[in-house]
Amino acid sequence: MTTQTSPVDHELVQAATDVARTRCQGDNHTMAAAARARDGRIVTAVNAYHFTGGPCAELVLIGAAAARGVHELDTVVAVGDRDRGVVPPCGRCRQVLLDYFPAIEVIVGEGDRIRTVLITDLLPESYVWSDHQLDVE
Ligand SMILES: [Zn+2]
Repeated sequence: MTTQTSPVDHELVQAATDVARTRCQGDNHTMAAAARARDGRIVTAVNAYHFTGGPCAELVLIGAAAARGVHELDTVVAVGDRDRGVVPPCGRCRQVLLDYFPAIEVIVGEGDRIRTVLITDLLPESYVWSDHQLDVE
């Protein structure tokens, strides 16, 4: 596996941190995510916890971005409430991010070791849904 790293978008990390600190209250919302859109805008969201499988902040973020007319995301980061810092995406989110944004970069790591990696580096030998759809005319 070749891991390519890019500079960390600290403004994006700060945006997610601010949302985690101010909007995550109680057990329903414990994670915040922020994404940098292709046009430079930042979109944020929080998770919607539910025992049936409520969506992670990254998935809510995809919908929130679409609701704002943002369909191309370049970088994403998730931050936990109660000053937990950057939290890597779960397996489901890695797959969804890959399918929606095959070139998206993800900020991962802790403290002064946070770094930016390609989604494909977080999901090696990945299943690419679009590669396995039969062409129906
Ligand atoms: Zn997730």
